[in-house]
Amino acid sequence: MMDGVGQKDLRIQSVIAEMAGQFSDIGIETGDLDARWLVEAVSGVGQTQLFLEPEKQLTPVQFEKLQTMIERRKKFEPIAKIIGEKEFYGRGFKVTRDVLDPRPDTETLIDVILKREADNRPLKFLDVGVGSGAIAITLLCERENWQAVASDVSEKALLVAKENSCLLNVDRRLKLVRTSWLQAIAGPFDFIVSNPPYIDRAEIDILARDVKNFDPHLALDGGDDGLEAYRQIAKTSGAVLKPQGRMYLEIGYKQADLVIEIFVQQGFLPAKMSECVTKDLGGNDRVIALVWDR
Ligand code: GLN
Repeated sequence: MMDGVGQKDLRIQSVIAEMAGQFSDIGIETGDLDARWLVEAVSGVGQTQLFLEPEKQLTPVQFEKLQTMIERRKKFEPIAKIIGEKEFYGRGFKVTRDVLDPRPDTETLIDVILKREADNRPLKFLDVGVGSGAIAITLLCERENWQAVASDVSEKALLVAKENSCLLNVDRRLKLVRTSWLQAIAGPFDFIVSNPPYIDRAEIDILARDVKNFDPHLALDGGDDGLEAYRQIAKTSGAVLKPQGRMYLEIGYKQADLVIEIFVQQGFLPAKMSECVTKDLGGNDRVIALVWDR
């Protein structure tokens, strides 16, 4: 393998152009951007520098590493999974095949919570289905007086969340619990947040290849109608919420009314009507806010 490298043009601009071409040939629309992220990952040269120093050469070792990454991307593995990191709310999170890559849509959930829980008074919240930890850890980074408990049924996901909480220095304020939904969770909490699996099982097959082949189905599969996780959470969360405790949920874009109904049946009220449902940046319903009416 190394033999061929000798004659190769290892200048950053040539390598990026060659990769972008390979990616676009197979229908990857973000070829140039993807190439730049992968070159940064192997070379440590940041995005601005890649533009400023197009003549800079990769070493043969970096070039070889890049070939493995290119092969993975050509199988439609997401960039985040290949480089093992995804940016969320301005911070880097480690990701693996055991967790959902944090999505920009989910930043709307953070915005809603930070707006409604506006001050830094000490409080305690629960994150159900913590995955990489992106939600709970971001909230703890943004509000230094908050404490959290976070659950996940996947031991491997909990290890990723643990590592992220240490990297971002909030591990002393985050207790991780391995359990299904809210079993084994003791309150009381000021609010609960969750981005549970909400894809209708029959629709998983038609998701983008990047998602269905590389994100854990455990984090996507919401059962036969996509709402099973909400039912589980709705049934058990009143018991661990303080009176007037809040519930913040990410939802699928067609699910707002159905999810609100599930929670209302269990004793929740939609938070002030005009603000109960919040749209993501794409204009789709993405977050709902409810209040435990006890
Ligand atoms: N928003 C994700 C997707 O469509 C799904 C996340 C989830 O089920 N919680 O890929």
